[in-house]
Amino acid sequence: MLVVMQSHATEEQIREVCKRIESLGLKAHPIPGSIRTAIGITGNKDAVDLGVLESLPGVVECIPVSKPYKLVSRDAKEEDTVLRIPTPSGDVIVGGNHVALVAGPCAVETETQCLAIAERVKKSGARLFRGGAYKPRTSPYSFQGLCEDGLKILAKVRATHGFGIVTEAIDNESLDLVEEYADVIQIGARNMQNFSLLKRAGRAKKPVLLKRGMSATLDEFLMAAEYILSEGNYNVMLCERGVRTFSDFSRNTLDLAVVPAVKKRSHLPILVDPSHGTGKRHKVLPLSRAAVAVGADGLIVEVHHEPEKALSDGMQSILPEEFAALADEVRQIAAVLHRSVN
Ligand code: PEP
Ligand code: MN
Repeated sequence: MLVVMQSHATEEQIREVCKRIESLGLKAHPIPGSIRTAIGITGNKDAVDLGVLESLPGVVECIPVSKPYKLVSRDAKEEDTVLRIPTPSGDVIVGGNHVALVAGPCAVETETQCLAIAERVKKSGARLFRGGAYKPRTSPYSFQGLCEDGLKILAKVRATHGFGIVTEAIDNESLDLVEEYADVIQIGARNMQNFSLLKRAGRAKKPVLLKRGMSATLDEFLMAAEYILSEGNYNVMLCERGVRTFSDFSRNTLDLAVVPAVKKRSHLPILVDPSHGTGKRHKVLPLSRAAVAVGADGLIVEVHHEPEKALSDGMQSILPEEFAALADEVRQIAAVLHRSVN
């Protein structure tokens, strides 16, 4: 259910409607838009009695939402959500006319490794640095990440180069630490439906990058984001990273058609990960071009200066000089779409 307020509704009237919703034992989520505020209602198991709310001052109408998700939907907020991510070198903007570049290794391995990659991708214009300190791996015997020591290395990268840090949390315990050290909390594909983790991310004070599960439908993907918003964190960006199909020439099938599909249904920004989406270095550049052309709000790319020595995902990590070419090309493609890359 959504309560649509008049464009000139006062703060007081919005507060009153929220109070009334809460008095019914439900949760109110005011979503300010450029023209008017809509108030999402969650927590209802059955239909809410419309009459009570519709008669309140400042209310235009109450509309039942037929889709399973409400807060992430365009019904709740017509215009695109544009995220501002505070970093030591100023805000990084994601969405609207801004395309973000997130680059870095799959895993944080050593300080020397991270600083070497950071220096190179910074020169190419990336302002967000990725790198996993907690690695959910297919095999329990594979490298699992440096944990808090890895986060400390990322903090060094942040302080040295002014990057915003994007790094994954794999459970509630690691999320506490990631929230402390990083600028964006990544929820990985394998955890897209880890509902207690989504709820914890929804209570976090930092933006969240939510990756699509490898077999998740679009509705399931948006419902996972809905969990985060429903706990109060509206700073969410989605990320397409490829899904499992019968295709056997690629690690995953990068579902670029999901980008316009998300844009039609949701106001949230969506990034594309061409690294996990393909699994092969030579496919990263062509798929990055395509992702920006199809309207992605950013790219998250694995870059390694010595990919043959990488402890994880070396095969899909591009070299820093390849990233430089990628950044240059996507900048030109973005310009055609009247967007800028930061
Ligand atoms: C990652 O980005 O390092 C990662 C593990 O990705 P995904 O969750 O998409 O597999
Ligand atoms: Mn990886």
